[in-house]
Amino acid sequence: MKWWEASPERWEWEVHRMSEKYPGSRSYDRRLWLRGVLPLGVPEVFKAWKGEIRPFDGVGNPDEVIAALDQNRYVLVARGGRVMASPDDRPHKRSALPTSAGLMEATFLLEATYKEPPAHPRVELLRPRPSPEAVREAHFYKDGSICPLYPPDGTWDWSRPDSMAEYLDTVAIWLAKYAYWEFTRRHYGKGIWVGSAIPHGKLGLLSRIPCDSQCCCRSGLKFRECHGRDLC
Ligand SMILES: [Zn+2]
Repeated sequence: MKWWEASPERWEWEVHRMSEKYPGSRSYDRRLWLRGVLPLGVPEVFKAWKGEIRPFDGVGNPDEVIAALDQNRYVLVARGGRVMASPDDRPHKRSALPTSAGLMEATFLLEATYKEPPAHPRVELLRPRPSPEAVREAHFYKDGSICPLYPPDGTWDWSRPDSMAEYLDTVAIWLAKYAYWEFTRRHYGKGIWVGSAIPHGKLGLLSRIPCDSQCCCRSGLKFRECHGRDLC
């Protein structure tokens, strides 16, 4: 039985949160043929959402958002995934970063698919498609999905319960950084990823994850129950 059948109230909560926070998105049943797992002709069904995020829509000055992200300050994510500098934690005005005017129109079409709980959702950029260079150098997982957070930090937790809307809030922040990375790559020849980030694929990363934190693989399980079984 699928999680949304086993727990219809949880699915209602997901729909409620999405209608509040991402009213332009629509949900649907995504059918995936998992090669080698199921006999041919029997797709597995996953719940998914499709919708657009414009991270700089209506903020006035994208430079302020970029400065806030660069200085690791709090940002707010408003309805529809619009990222704003927090009034309580304003960035230092002066920033050595290239100006980011022209980002206001940045628009991303996303597909967000639930995996089997408590695993994290998987979010893909449908339009514009990321270039192979972006997948290699910006923060993407190897499967091409975006990597908006570091699971051991506990930023998103299915059992809290955090919904797809909370996950997309972290995606909106990621998109602001990604838009700026693409913008600086195009105009200055080198992409700038603002703010702190965990390097990908680093050996030794595993041994630093606390055993009771979520595993880095997005399973939503504790590290001790997942890839840390032999380390904890
Ligand atoms: Zn794991």
